[in-house]
Amino acid sequence: MHVKVLQRGPGILALDNEDGTWNIEFDDGTDGDVPLGDIETAEETPPSNEHANGIRMVAPPWTEPKLEGWTRFVCFSDTHGLHGQIPKKHLPAADVLLHAGDFTNTGELEQVESFSSWLEAYPAAHKVVIAGNHDITFDEYYYTCRGALRFHPRREYDCTKARGLLTGCTYLQDSAIEVGGYRIYGSPWQPAFCDWAFNLERGVECRKQWTMIPSDVDILITHGPAAGHGDRCSSGIRAGCEDLLTEIQSRSILVAVAGHIHEGYGMSSDGVTLYLNASTCTHSYRPTNPPIVFDAPPVAMLREATVSAATAAGLRPPS
Ligand SMILES: [Zn+2]
Repeated sequence: MHVKVLQRGPGILALDNEDGTWNIEFDDGTDGDVPLGDIETAEETPPSNEHANGIRMVAPPWTEPKLEGWTRFVCFSDTHGLHGQIPKKHLPAADVLLHAGDFTNTGELEQVESFSSWLEAYPAAHKVVIAGNHDITFDEYYYTCRGALRFHPRREYDCTKARGLLTGCTYLQDSAIEVGGYRIYGSPWQPAFCDWAFNLERGVECRKQWTMIPSDVDILITHGPAAGHGDRCSSGIRAGCEDLLTEIQSRSILVAVAGHIHEGYGMSSDGVTLYLNASTCTHSYRPTNPPIVFDAPPVAMLREATVSAATAAGLRPPS
């Protein structure tokens, strides 16, 4: 979560020291322990827990009961093989777990297996996972052409085994699944950066990929965030995808979940779609950002509310 610290400036809540102070990673690249009284929540956090389309954010410790007929979603991303080190208090029960990719450091098959065991044990009825640019063994073309040589020169993995080892979830790669009536679509691609897996050139390549998103998606999971939402790097540059934003805003997508830019952790809205950056790891790769939890009303009610929000905001026509 983005915060402002008196006399120090903006940063991100990194770790609760549980002694009345929090460790803050400042936007200027430094970090330090700060008393709770000096921390102000930054503007990016919506003042209300109720979103325009009816979605309700659930705050830690997530003990608030959900309403009858509603569905609780818990979102993680960018756990980078450190799922076992996520604080126990950050593992609330839910109906559906969503993970927006980078569950390994560089696609190590041992980490895929260990992540699968973690998923199997997680207290959620459904788990939906996509890959990210770090899950290089899931991008067979990339891994065989360049990834293995670059990252595992001494011990190449058999990347044809990667998907089979990921169990305990539904894995989406440019595909969709319906869970509890909600249509969920997942895609690992992001604008190219330093030649990692699932990279696409901005412009034509990205646009081509995003037009594959079906028009009737309720919840979209992409590894990379849309431009302007959860995409601000510590350098201040916004690294999100403009073309993804365009495609989201041409559909009545209720929730867009991403990760990738660890410093972009948090939530924002354009008045219709709720954008979540659920990066579990902080900028310095500590798995201490709490999961983002929301309750969604029954799907018909949610779609209706989203259409009215879209009409009210004059943002897009009802689909
Ligand atoms: Zn990451």
